[in-house]
Amino acid sequence: FSHMIIEKLMAVDGDSRDWDGRWNHVKKFLERPGPFTHPDFEPSIESLGFLLETCKILVIGAGGLGCELLQNLALSGFRHIHVVDMDTIDISNLNRQFLFRFGLPFSPLLLCPLIFYFMMDSNLKFHIIVCGLDSIIARRWMNGMLISLLSYEDGVLDPSSIIPLIDGGTEGFKGNARVILPDMTACIDCTLELYPPQIHFPMCTIASMPRLPEHCVEYVRMLQWPKDEPFGDGFGLDGDNPEHIQWVFQRAQVRAADYSITGVTYRLTQGEENHTNPKVKCNVFHILCCFVAACSTEVFKMASSTYIPLNNYLVFNIVDGLYTYTFEAERKENCSACSQVPQDLQFPPSAKLQEVLEYLTENASLQMKSPAITATLEGKNKTLYLQTIASIEERTRPNLCKTLKELVLSDGQELAVADVTTPQTVLFKLKLTF
Ligand SMILES: [Zn+2]
Repeated sequence: FSHMIIEKLMAVDGDSRDWDGRWNHVKKFLERPGPFTHPDFEPSIESLGFLLETCKILVIGAGGLGCELLQNLALSGFRHIHVVDMDTIDISNLNRQFLFRFGLPFSPLLLCPLIFYFMMDSNLKFHIIVCGLDSIIARRWMNGMLISLLSYEDGVLDPSSIIPLIDGGTEGFKGNARVILPDMTACIDCTLELYPPQIHFPMCTIASMPRLPEHCVEYVRMLQWPKDEPFGDGFGLDGDNPEHIQWVFQRAQVRAADYSITGVTYRLTQGEENHTNPKVKCNVFHILCCFVAACSTEVFKMASSTYIPLNNYLVFNIVDGLYTYTFEAERKENCSACSQVPQDLQFPPSAKLQEVLEYLTENASLQMKSPAITATLEGKNKTLYLQTIASIEERTRPNLCKTLKELVLSDGQELAVADVTTPQTVLFKLKLTF
């Protein structure tokens, strides 16, 4: 490990020349066979050139996992590494995220348009994507993007259109690493039930009849923030930014006072995910390194074809002792992302649109965030509900309390649902139950 650090520092000091024997450690894997090599592996002195000169890798997330991934990949010989991150730098992360100490020009970026740009520019076609994210939404978005890039000829998948996704995630003392080959192995959405579902409150309650302190916080986060845009145009709420949290906290207190609700605290405003203390973060770093090692190894295996890739899900857990296990996650037959099976929505005509919205956000295999629902009625596209744009939200909010019958939605009606969890609109077919 210390050898790695020395190498890293040498590269950082500007001495990035390929000194004699620089890649000897990598060559040992590429230029000779072994008892565990891939059955189709052919040792070659040309493989190193592919790693160094050709192979393009996109690393998503430059946080804890991402930063370590970058150095591991760089030391494995990869040179064309692109990094995307959508966060600003958190001062408490500087100790473990070496990248930021060198003052790289990181700025808040919008993940989705940027990746879209990368994908559309053929010169930037990536060979492998590595995700080191703590956001399930961004992961699912990326997963959907890779599925949308697949091409078929007469219904047969063109293997050259597959871009492997290596995904690493840690939470506390648990983590997982997985290898996803779109349309071949289970995708992120196939196993969505494994992620803890999020708690949602009905929009009607948040907007007009709050009872709990949480309702007040959600009101400010979901309705007041997009309307007031306190930090400028299009500046989304960042849960890691203390100034943002403070703004939400103060407004939520005002709202709570209006409705005589008590219990709005800073900690509540911060939400569950953000009270990690520095000590825990340090221990978590150990498990993080294990995952980075697992992910980088998979990237190396995939890029060099030297070994059989992980099949396909590795769990690692140091909550109580040490536990690790690898299994093959199965594809879900009616996965909303990768199955191409039309999704059904079953409701009685007396159900309100609010219930449909709750189903989309709360159902364990959908877990959408802020779905926008449109329907084609009498040849016209009609937005039934859209939450992310304040003016449209206000205009379409009354629909939430209307029944499907009142909205003139009949059996077999197609509903197009757009959401941040997927780059493509998901089509649902309404099945009215009587
Ligand atoms: Zn799937």
